[in-house]
Amino acid sequence: MTESFDIVIIGYGPAGIAAAGGAVREGARVAVVESHAPGGACLHRGCIPYAVFIDKLRYGADAHGARASFDLPSVLGDIRRTQERMVEDLEREAVRLGIKMIRGRATIVSGGSVRVSTSDGAEREIGASRIVVAAGRGEAGTTEGYTQDGVRPVPGRVVHAERFFDEVTEIPPSAIVVGGGTSGIELAAALNSLGTRVTVFEAEPELFARAGRFASRRFTDMLEERGIAVRAGARVVSVGTGDDGTVTCEFDGAAGRETSDAAIAVVATGRRHDCRRLFASEELARNLGVRFDAGRIVVDEDGRSGCATIFAAGDATAGPCYAHRASADGRRVSAAIAGHPRGDGENRRRAQAGAAGRDVPHCVRTGTEFGFVGMSADDAQASGVPAVTGRAWAAANGYAVATGRTGGFAELVFALTDDRRPGALIGAQVLCPPASELIAACLLAMRAGADAETLAETVYAHPTFSELLGEAARNALTKTR
Ligand SMILES: Cc1cc2nc3c(=O)[nH]c(=O)nc-3n(C[C@H](O)[C@H](O)[C@H](O)COP(=O)(O)OP(=O)(O)OC[C@H]3O[C@@H](n4cnc5c(N)ncnc54)[C@H](O)[C@@H]3O)c2cc1C
Repeated sequence: MTESFDIVIIGYGPAGIAAAGGAVREGARVAVVESHAPGGACLHRGCIPYAVFIDKLRYGADAHGARASFDLPSVLGDIRRTQERMVEDLEREAVRLGIKMIRGRATIVSGGSVRVSTSDGAEREIGASRIVVAAGRGEAGTTEGYTQDGVRPVPGRVVHAERFFDEVTEIPPSAIVVGGGTSGIELAAALNSLGTRVTVFEAEPELFARAGRFASRRFTDMLEERGIAVRAGARVVSVGTGDDGTVTCEFDGAAGRETSDAAIAVVATGRRHDCRRLFASEELARNLGVRFDAGRIVVDEDGRSGCATIFAAGDATAGPCYAHRASADGRRVSAAIAGHPRGDGENRRRAQAGAAGRDVPHCVRTGTEFGFVGMSADDAQASGVPAVTGRAWAAANGYAVATGRTGGFAELVFALTDDRRPGALIGAQVLCPPASELIAACLLAMRAGADAETLAETVYAHPTFSELLGEAARNALTKTR
């Protein structure tokens, strides 16, 4: 064993960055093993390149504002520059914090040691009192885990969403998007705004079913009104390429097996999870007491696996695959290792109440954005929680009318009090241009235990979309008067 640390973290994406920063502030000696450049899927494959791309679209009132001025090569250059700058910032910050950065592939060889293999074939073992697995869905610099039944990637034509900006050099006339999750829909909306004819295939019967039927349908309608064909309940069974340059997708829908053609296909179903690969053998993981569920490490509310010295955070564990969830996990793990789980048992209480995971916001940036958090009216009904909803339409909001963006709404879900009045906010679904920002206010209100009266009496600046929140709360109060 060449060196030993208090904590060795595998992976320096959002979860690893937050865990490392938190642990250093707790006074721990921390090493990070990262096989690629710092930043994880978020910086190299997901959030950041997509944010640069979407920002350049400058979605207008009709969601088609970008086409004339859009220059893909220049946007790709902006993406690279942003990534380089952020990598440098992360490296500098790691040095400032005294984090030991080790470049290589990590494999757990015991509950207290990690083997690091480097590209030149060298191997060494480092010791750790605690190991934090923050390895996401795989190494950021590889394509492992992309494989999907019936779909073989073909560079530039059948492209994984993670590799879109590496492989696609011009805006295609038509595109098939396989997978109607966040990145699939963001890409579909972006391409649509650039004039691409887009068809989205989603195996589930509805897009974003967790947002509840009403919000999900309204959002889908809006996408279709923009000209995006949404085939929900359609399972793609194969994607093939023809000699004439077309891509053909075979899918099973309501009418049986059908086909659809386009210039390219983007596979946005995500990588497979396989955290077993991080252990020297399956037997070792089993003997250590580490369990897996669908390839992800099973952890408790503090991020501890079945082995007392091994923790996990972010995409490597169950829960929504978002950078913000990964960062929150990383902070929680470092606090738990330091011996003071965050929030004095708040995590435990929320986990027991089944609330954990419900307070992670979902945001889809499609010009008119879609954000949701907590319970929908359908969730409340299914879980037997007495609730009332309040809704406000953007068509009656001054800012929406003034800027011609009237298609959305805000719906707030309140738990009913014993005297059947709208009590604490337990969920929100918002469809409007700044929904990703507004949903943060909703989550804050939820965590602070704000009720309908508080939301109704809050003074919102005029004219803004935030006024939708006050209107929706007043609507809920009116319903129960
Ligand atoms: C196309 C796309 C768009 C997305 N858009 C958004 C978005 O808008 N908002 C959002 O919140 N989330 C988004 N995500 C999801 C987000 O990127 C992930 O949820 C987040 O990066 C997970 O963080 P993590 O730290 O758990 O894992 P990762 O970011 O995957 O980081 C894991 C790190 O571990 C390293 N690693 C893996 N195995 C090893 C090993 N054996 N040895 C050493 N290092 C290893 C990897 O190289 C990587 O750097 C998007 C994802 C994709 C693919």
